[in-house]
Amino acid sequence: MPSFPLAPGSTIGILGGGQLGRMLALAAARLGFDVAILERDADSPAGRSATQLIVGAYDDEAALARLAELTDVVTYEFENVPAASVEWLASKGVDVAPGARALAVAQDRINEKTFLNGRGVATVAFAAADNPVSAVEAVERIGAPALMKTRREGYDGKGQKWVEHAADAARIFQELGGVPVIVEAPADFVRELSVIAARGRDGEIAVYPLGENHHEHGILRRTLAPANASQSLADQAEKIARQVLDGLGYVGVIGIELFELKDGRLLVNEIAPRVHNTGHWTQDGCEVDQFEQHIRAVAGWPLGPTAARSRVEMLNLLGEEAHGWRKLASEPDTRIHLYGKREAKPGRKMGHVNRVRPLGS
Ligand code: AMP
Repeated sequence: MPSFPLAPGSTIGILGGGQLGRMLALAAARLGFDVAILERDADSPAGRSATQLIVGAYDDEAALARLAELTDVVTYEFENVPAASVEWLASKGVDVAPGARALAVAQDRINEKTFLNGRGVATVAFAAADNPVSAVEAVERIGAPALMKTRREGYDGKGQKWVEHAADAARIFQELGGVPVIVEAPADFVRELSVIAARGRDGEIAVYPLGENHHEHGILRRTLAPANASQSLADQAEKIARQVLDGLGYVGVIGIELFELKDGRLLVNEIAPRVHNTGHWTQDGCEVDQFEQHIRAVAGWPLGPTAARSRVEMLNLLGEEAHGWRKLASEPDTRIHLYGKREAKPGRKMGHVNRVRPLGS
């Protein structure tokens, strides 16, 4: 096992070569670390920003062995890392953070909500189903309309469908692939918010101000942060973050998606055991952003300050929108973050901008 705090010059491994891995690699480099990326694609956003690139699948033992040889600590940029890979790395003495428990909880929507409710954190009512008959029963129990989602591997609104009548549930179960599902009651929310928080190796917790999120076609379009929020809302969010982080014995940054209800209560929609798109505003709104914070946490360093020093509107650049970089570069209040992706497919996250304003404006 490595000794913490990890000294500059050590190598941090990252599973995944996308934009989150890239921004983690850049933050790690700033703190004097080397970074090794494990990624299937030989030409990836993170691979091109790291010290070392290992090309291979996340369950390729030869690739994992190379990663174990190079690194002291391994983290990841997405939650669908195979549990077996994390166990394999741990068996070779590599510290993986956030740990296996966080992955097991976040990878499965039933485990996730069961964990949250067990910690006293509220979610919508839900029921599990793993065949067409139990899918109908689950919708009858929760009440239609209800949202049916695959238990595993959904993202950006994919792998989920509304069920208007219980009688449709068997067909929709099949349309979602005939895999185990969760049936959720609709959340009658007034806003979608998120809280980004971190827990260090010594149990220290740091929580960023709330972000207010707007989606289009299931994809995050913009985040406004700090969100306009009462003290009681901020207190609720902080309490939720602490319950989740302590409950998982977590190390690193987490993204927690929230629904704000009319009566001012917060429900947790889902947790992402990694840096999060709704936390990109911290790059230009805070002294220490979520990427540096994550590297600090996994390296066993003290966490940095999370207070906002500016108000930020974060806009994702989807598909060809990123081709507008010339105009964006001419706007004095706009900070540009591009991911170096070669192809601007429709809806693909190519970059984001942070429009920065004074606090209180
Ligand atoms: P998810 O994949 O769970 O993050 O869901 C994607 C989006 O679907 C959320 O950001 C919400 O806008 C919406 N959504 C998810 N679950 C619910 C729910 N139980 N009730 C109402 N809307 C939901």
